[in-house]
Amino acid sequence: MNEPLWGIDLGGTKIEGVIITSLEDPKPILRTRIDTEGAKGYDHIVSQIATLIQSMEKKSGLKANILGIGTPGVLDPILQTMKNSNSTALNGMPLKKDLENKLQLNIELANDANCFALAETYWGVVKEKCPEAKVVFGIIMGTGVGGGIVINGKIWNGHHGIAGEWGHNFLDESGGPCYCGKTGCVEKVLAGPSLQRYYSSITSSMITLKEIAQRDAQGFDKAASETMKRLHYFFGKAISGVVNILDPDVIVVGGGVGNIDSVYTEGLESLKQFIFNNRVDVQILKPKLGDSAGVFGAAALVA
Ligand SMILES: [Zn+2]
Repeated sequence: MNEPLWGIDLGGTKIEGVIITSLEDPKPILRTRIDTEGAKGYDHIVSQIATLIQSMEKKSGLKANILGIGTPGVLDPILQTMKNSNSTALNGMPLKKDLENKLQLNIELANDANCFALAETYWGVVKEKCPEAKVVFGIIMGTGVGGGIVINGKIWNGHHGIAGEWGHNFLDESGGPCYCGKTGCVEKVLAGPSLQRYYSSITSSMITLKEIAQRDAQGFDKAASETMKRLHYFFGKAISGVVNILDPDVIVVGGGVGNIDSVYTEGLESLKQFIFNNRVDVQILKPKLGDSAGVFGAAALVA
């Protein structure tokens, strides 16, 4: 059976849909999007997804039997309701069940960081540079910090459905209180906005992380250099906790912070002083698929 794969990436502002030929041939048959309009609430998000699927069926002349969806947050494996989503309208809601009822098809649902890890494994940088990898840790360091684990080509969800969620591990008190109720989370130190805030705490000026990195490279801005040092030092420290437990073959770093080149050199260097090993062999790679990883990974869920 080689039916086309249907995937949906549910984002805060857009819902993106794709139909791809097969796992071996990820050529999109159709790719389209619709506004989430999340402010209108949960029921509206569900009907926007239904509208998108109907329009995809109409445009392609195909019919979905099973659909992969990448979401912010995860489905609690016991309660079967959503949790940990920054699109807060989803939290506590039985999204999978509601969509299955509304669309009359089977749904495979996974966290967007998991979809990212899956897409990079099948079609991205892992396939290109590390095709033998059995364990892949995909991380997203953007406005938030998340992660997903792929083992032998399948997402590892874990007992609570939170496997790979290193963003809310404790990292350092200096990160301050987090929306999750804890203090000093990885996200509060290493997310883009957290690093920008750190720079602003020294200079009182708010600039992008990209600008901070440029200023550091030019060598005239001490606060920029301190901010980048903070990123490199704590990146190694935070990743070491994951490497010591999971010991993945490869780590892929997505999100805006993953676009900073020094993460792959100085960040990797910092890891050496923290892991319980006398050398670092794990590859830390920049992703290849860009913004497409989420929706392609969602489609890969049903392969
Ligand atoms: Zn937190």
